[in-house]
Amino acid sequence: MERSNGRNDVYSQVAHDEIDLQHSGAVTIPVYQNSLFAFPNHEAFDQAMRDVLSATVYSRGNNPTVQYLERKIAELERGERARCFASGMAAISSTLHALLKTGDHVVCVDQSYGPTRQYLGELSDRFGIAVTYVDGRAVADFRQALQPHTKLIYLESPTSGLFQLQDLEEIAKLAKEAGVLTAIDSSWATPCFLQPLSLGIDIVLHSMTKYFSGHSDCLGGVVVTRAELMREIEQRGYMLLGGIMTPHTASLMIRGLRTLPLRMERHQQSGLAVAEYLQAHPMVACVNHPGLPSHPQHQLAQKQLSGYSSLFSFEAKLPLQVMKQWADTLQYFRIGVSWGGYESLVSVGATPEARNTDGASPSLVRLYVGLEDTAALIEDMEKAWTTVMHE
Ligand SMILES: *Cc1c(COP(=O)(O)O)cnc(C)c1O
Repeated sequence: MERSNGRNDVYSQVAHDEIDLQHSGAVTIPVYQNSLFAFPNHEAFDQAMRDVLSATVYSRGNNPTVQYLERKIAELERGERARCFASGMAAISSTLHALLKTGDHVVCVDQSYGPTRQYLGELSDRFGIAVTYVDGRAVADFRQALQPHTKLIYLESPTSGLFQLQDLEEIAKLAKEAGVLTAIDSSWATPCFLQPLSLGIDIVLHSMTKYFSGHSDCLGGVVVTRAELMREIEQRGYMLLGGIMTPHTASLMIRGLRTLPLRMERHQQSGLAVAEYLQAHPMVACVNHPGLPSHPQHQLAQKQLSGYSSLFSFEAKLPLQVMKQWADTLQYFRIGVSWGGYESLVSVGATPEARNTDGASPSLVRLYVGLEDTAALIEDMEKAWTTVMHE
């Protein structure tokens, strides 16, 4: 019951706003397309300058269109504060930059997003921040990796190559006992299917480029956390690095947000239908989708997630080259990176996120199921199998 209440909540949260009479009752917030804000007198200016992180002084700090989006996302994630960035990587790197210093130690899931690992590598090589990578499917992986100087546990659940999960509630407990912060890249689940702060995680990060935007037309990122931790991120990472979201992008993201729950429900249905189709196919060795009962962590997925998004992978019994031909034959699935838009996507070959895993098939195919008709997508794949098997 709680789950469906949670979901209905999400629908009202994205659709309902207080009427803002400041803007003649306009039903969407205007794009505040300005870099600076002027003051009626110098005293008001001086007062604002004493707290540029709260006042509207300059759009690298605050902008009403962006702030509106931030309030909406904080509400969806049940967090105190949210801050939007120019991209998912801007949110991730600014957060890591703000929270870590020389001598600190980080425990990170080894299948986490490639550029996140690369940035941790930079911090490690150039600033003396130590990083331990763990498999993460067992809570003990984290317990064993903790050191006296561990500052942060960095999670991504599920991962975006092999779709492995971490037990967030248990890891949050462990981290609290050890006085360690926890952060999660939750781009896959969105707040529609997972609210990590409610499970005790400290910081939630998203690439808004994916499902939030939903239309493959802009990039963005967000960090959500409690007020006191956000201050630290704002002071050290947000204003100074300047990787902010522009008001125009914020306006596109607000538009995307209105249909997020609706789209996620559809993505869930179509993603599962395509995954089930593939699982039954004789040329498929296994499907990595946490919503399938065959997924080794399906029980944890059911406990932790209230739904499943539509990015997953499968391992084919045919060689890599043949699967590349298979992808070439598809009409609806376009070949490319990223996901979360309206269009279905395919990429063949182990992604950087599927590294270090024993036995991972080289013929790993990652699929993103978009908003097209599911029967048409399945027919598209059916034709592709026939083509490659007759050549
Ligand atoms: C795309 C992606 C990011 C990075 O987001 P950008 O908006 O491309 O910077 C981070 N994490 C995951 C899981 C992603 O898929």
